[in-house]
Amino acid sequence: MNKPSRLRITGGTVYDPANGVDGVVRDVCIEGDRIVADLPAGVPRLDARGMIVMPGGVDIHAHVAGSSVNHGRRLLPDEHAADPVPAPRLAEGAVSRSGTGGTIPSTFATGYRYAGLGYTTAMEAAVAPLAARHAHAELDDTPIIDAGFFVLLGNDDYLLRQIAAGETARARDYAAWLLGATRGYAIKIVNPGGIARWKSGAGGPERNVAGLDDPVGSSAVTPRKILETLAGAANALELPHPVHIHCNNLGQPGNVETTLASMRALAGQRAHFTHLQFHSYGGERGKNWKSAANEVIEYVNTHGEVSADVGQVMFGPATTLTADGPVEHLLYTSSGRRWVNVDIELETGCGIVPYSYKERAAVAALQWGVGLELFLLARAPWRVVLSTDHPNGGSFLSYPRLIRLLMDRAYRDEQLKRVNQKLLAGSALLDGLAREYSLTEVAIVTRAGPARLLGLKTKGHLGTGADADVTIYSDDADRAKMFSTPRYVIKAGTLVVEEGQLRRAPEGRRLAVRPEYDAAVTKDLKRFFDDYACVSFENYGAEPVA
Ligand SMILES: [Zn+2]
Repeated sequence: MNKPSRLRITGGTVYDPANGVDGVVRDVCIEGDRIVADLPAGVPRLDARGMIVMPGGVDIHAHVAGSSVNHGRRLLPDEHAADPVPAPRLAEGAVSRSGTGGTIPSTFATGYRYAGLGYTTAMEAAVAPLAARHAHAELDDTPIIDAGFFVLLGNDDYLLRQIAAGETARARDYAAWLLGATRGYAIKIVNPGGIARWKSGAGGPERNVAGLDDPVGSSAVTPRKILETLAGAANALELPHPVHIHCNNLGQPGNVETTLASMRALAGQRAHFTHLQFHSYGGERGKNWKSAANEVIEYVNTHGEVSADVGQVMFGPATTLTADGPVEHLLYTSSGRRWVNVDIELETGCGIVPYSYKERAAVAALQWGVGLELFLLARAPWRVVLSTDHPNGGSFLSYPRLIRLLMDRAYRDEQLKRVNQKLLAGSALLDGLAREYSLTEVAIVTRAGPARLLGLKTKGHLGTGADADVTIYSDDADRAKMFSTPRYVIKAGTLVVEEGQLRRAPEGRRLAVRPEYDAAVTKDLKRFFDDYACVSFENYGAEPVA
């Protein structure tokens, strides 16, 4: 079948929660790259009887392109040898590329594999501004999916200077300018202030911040001030996605305190808290790990301004990869695995440690349990969406298994029996959580919810005018199997997966914002670049300043 300019998907059972369609047999019509209300008789048809039709998947948080991801690939030659990806045989003799898989697939393989999973949009969650051009170059080489990235702010010298000087408006103008200059999509904060301390050597043996009111250089600069400044900027600029926050103390026992303090610091303001699982531990710093999922999700449940993605840990290989340099140093010293610490000469940090989550390891089992508790105790699926923080908690290829864990209690209980339960004592999961996600809830947490949280108005739904991104699954009681091998995937009106085979690999689109700002900030920035930066102002950003 050639690229259909018009297509009627007939007789499928449609799950389109954004439009209140909950498992209704109806047709979906496509014209060009859009969903339309109807089409005349005689247009090409795709028979979807007995199948399940959903909008294309939307990944709100993954690490798929850019400097840190590429350093991760270079650290994993063994994975490349173990998982070669031959060039797919595309229709009409189109050119395709071979690559490598593993936990951090190469660019082309990333696009092919996302599409093969029924995902048509993905957000790269952490790009250093100075490496924006690199991230765009990699996304240019990542076919099929529409993609954008979150640009790292909150540990960079210029911003911290503005906060120290009480220049809130200039900080906002800077954030707006930076988003435009890097062609970014949203503001990302990682361990506010902690990376600046890590790089400066301050902050005791851990070279990190521990609480929201620790000073970062100047006593006027604290994690709390950084959060307030950037959340305020994102909201004042009316960005489609609010500030995207990786809290302080990731992975530390007792970090529930800083997580809740961060949410309270921004009470009443829209904010997205990412990979919440890694920030929902009770106990005390350095010891007594336990789940604090209940406390954290209760706050989220009762505060409509807060959204989150879970960052589920899945058993098996992973690569931990984050701008949170001090965390990776800690993981390296405790695991003895390979480690790199890079990007410290950029406006942020980056550490990478390949990892494997084992069922019999007490902490890994706790992390797995905390993620499931967050999912199963969440009362607002629109605001608590699916992620594994790929490749940190596991590969995006593990999403189908995660969906089965959410939908199939017997399967979940079976796995629960096998894991190390030492640290799960008293957790809601061990007490027994009966909830099973419905297909509608899965459609919310994997596409409709992330699209809404990202402010992507034409994604995550199948209403008139929506992007023609559609995934069609064979209905299979084994939900892991069903979600891992969609029968058809349509991206912007092009049939990319046909009968379970990748057949076409069109280019995806870039998602970016260009907010307005007071141009006076660029004069000040130019002075700052002249005095301190290793690149000229004119050469900064995604493309040279015109
Ligand atoms: Zn992440």
